[in-house]
Amino acid sequence: MTAGAAGAAPGQAPVTVVGLGLMGAALAGAFVTRGHPTTVWNRSPGKDGPLVERGATSAATPAEAFTAAPLAVLCVKDHEAVREILRQAGEALSGRVLVDLTTGTSEDALRTAREAEGFGARYLDGAILATPDAIGLPDTAILYSGPTALFTEHEATLAALGGSPLHLGATEGLASLYDVALLGAMWSSLNGVLHATALVGSEGVGADAFAPFAGMLFQAMGVFVTRYAEQIAAGDFTADDSTVRTHLAGVAHLVRESAVRGVDGTLPGHLRSVLTEVAARGHAEDSYASVVEYFRKPAL
Ligand code: NAP
Repeated sequence: MTAGAAGAAPGQAPVTVVGLGLMGAALAGAFVTRGHPTTVWNRSPGKDGPLVERGATSAATPAEAFTAAPLAVLCVKDHEAVREILRQAGEALSGRVLVDLTTGTSEDALRTAREAEGFGARYLDGAILATPDAIGLPDTAILYSGPTALFTEHEATLAALGGSPLHLGATEGLASLYDVALLGAMWSSLNGVLHATALVGSEGVGADAFAPFAGMLFQAMGVFVTRYAEQIAAGDFTADDSTVRTHLAGVAHLVRESAVRGVDGTLPGHLRSVLTEVAARGHAEDSYASVVEYFRKPAL
């Protein structure tokens, strides 16, 4: 074990961070900044250097890392890698609390939780909705799910990673489910904006000139998200802004404009088939929120 320069503050809980990639190193750095005695481990040597210089302790093996602190944060490539590390540590996991911030599906989280429990550890699933540069900042969102008492016990320590730690509830894997769902929303939205950028770009409009208009749209979207969530929760899709029929006509323009300008039409074509199906299911005069029914029960 290699100990770094003194940097720990009295009263701060000791922690272990497993995985020192871009994100893991940022997480470990945030604990060190807050004065937590921090032990780190990474599969490949060399990534611990800057952290050890700041006062972290480097463990030679996963077992040594987990033994060093009651709480360990894991952040590696995927859940396969997490489970590999758990198997290497074996009985050193007994009595430890694992907070797994590795990205994966809810099923991945459940599988890893069972494996961790098999070694006598307790498990919280987590999801980081931020990039490494935002770790430790006041507005950074990190979601957690799993046993409430376990989260409460370690909430103050996890606060070192940024913002107010958000516990979504005891349902296992819920943080990973939110993560995947939100990433999906992000990619769909970004693809829409990039398609629009290509469309106006065909007329020589620069992406930078168009960006403020896309920004205005995203501001307005917040209103729709809230309004449509209320309609979905109430199961009442009465159109009070515009109908699926009106949106379908608009999408037809997007399909034609894309074709005329030689811009890829896959995205508008998909939008048109979704809205056509939603209208065919009896929602033509309903609000756009009724599209949720398509995703709940996709066309065969
Ligand atoms: P990264 O820089 O590529 O680092 C990957 C880490 O995983 C390295 O420490 C690597 O160790 C380790 N690893 C890979 N396979 C392993 C194995 N079989 N056994 C042990 N360790 C293994 O990735 P990252 O950006 O830090 O991302 C880590 C996790 O955070 C991912 O699940 C990612 O989705 C999530 N995340 C990242 C961001 C972000 O902005 N970067 C944001 C949210 C969530 P070696 O050094 O030995 O290769």
